Amino acid sequence: MQISSIICHYAEIGIKGDNKSYFERYLKDNIKQQIRGVSPGLSIVVRMLRGRILVELSESGIERIDEIIEALKNVFGLAFFTLAVSTKQDIEEIKKVALALCQQESFDTFRVKASRSDKNFPLTSMEIDRTVGEVIFETMNKTVKLKGADLVCGIELVNRLAFIHVKRFAGRGGFPVGVSGKILLMLSGGFDSPVAAFYAMKRGATPVYLHFHSVPITDDSSIIKARQLVKALNKFQPYSKLLLCPLAPVQQAIMHNGYEKYRIILYRRFMFRIAEKISKQFKSGAIYTGESLGQVASQTIPNMAAIEIVTKIPILRPLIGFDKQEIINKAEEINTAEISILPDEDCCSLFTPKHPVTKAHIPTVELAEEGLEIDALVDEAIQGIIVEGIGR
Ligand code: ATP
Ligand code: MG
Repeated sequence: MQISSIICHYAEIGIKGDNKSYFERYLKDNIKQQIRGVSPGLSIVVRMLRGRILVELSESGIERIDEIIEALKNVFGLAFFTLAVSTKQDIEEIKKVALALCQQESFDTFRVKASRSDKNFPLTSMEIDRTVGEVIFETMNKTVKLKGADLVCGIELVNRLAFIHVKRFAGRGGFPVGVSGKILLMLSGGFDSPVAAFYAMKRGATPVYLHFHSVPITDDSSIIKARQLVKALNKFQPYSKLLLCPLAPVQQAIMHNGYEKYRIILYRRFMFRIAEKISKQFKSGAIYTGESLGQVASQTIPNMAAIEIVTKIPILRPLIGFDKQEIINKAEEINTAEISILPDEDCCSLFTPKHPVTKAHIPTVELAEEGLEIDALVDEAIQGIIVEGIGR
């Protein structure tokens, strides 16, 4: 029995009214893009089907089904998807297909679960369950179990067709990337910020990545890592922009100004000023970071306050309540850990003080910045930005 389609289901909570078609349009396009991303050249039909999205498989699509399944597992917004065979709405046909599909699987307990979007079918959902269940029971001698069965045979009656499936895959949940607009994601080479990018995309935001480097004082290893990280994160969004911003002139000016204990705070105030200014240019509505409360000296509440006070744009920190190990576990799951762990010369480790301040005193921070040509340094950094487009 040949699988002919994939039925994608999304959770409908919170996407009522006008929002719904907006959400569905993004989801449909993202499904198409993701499949094309893993199977270039594959011609694919993706269409709406009454609260579901249907992927119709051609011969070549069937051959590449495993790649397509992997792609769909990385589409945010999907609750689950099933591999289905479609037939006409005829109970004898439905029984035949359901039985054939079950015969390809190994299981002890099962249940049939029908749902009807077409209410004019002569049998109710429960009658379909019973009729089809009887055939499986009698032919295969398997036990019916309503809760926790090994195999669930789903039957969906929709648009004058019956879709029958026994294989179901969990989706990643969340919202389709794009529905929440663009954000600027501050990407270092560490474990945290790529995971923050994952959570940004999970709730529908499109990240534009911003990486600060200290070339030529350091080598370009952090830039190479940033590119690799964006490539790895592109399994959730096939194409991204990476902005590479030189921070060395800012850091040198700060170093010459004294206030050693405050150096990191000042670096970070400049990073946020630059990020806010280019947010406008890239239509980003917020800045995301990988900060988690108390993880390092700069991530205490007084320090975060002393840093973000220089901007007005929302600063979002999706990892604020995560432990380091939780972040690393997620990084491993999404394959960014293997890149983050590589050694690099990070800009924040340049001229770092032995004892950085943990409770920044804002008047002292302002004093430490006195004499710095803030606007000129910010503009110079922005002029030095190189924009790269990165695919998979
Ligand atoms: P990460 O694991 O993401 O590197 P971290 O534990 O090293 O974080 P910090 O160095 O304090 O912590 O950085 C906190 C956040 O600031 C990072 O998660 C990232 O969002 C941003 N950031 C730090 N360094 C850079 C950089 N070189 N370029 C862009 N953003 C940066
Ligand atoms: Mg870091």
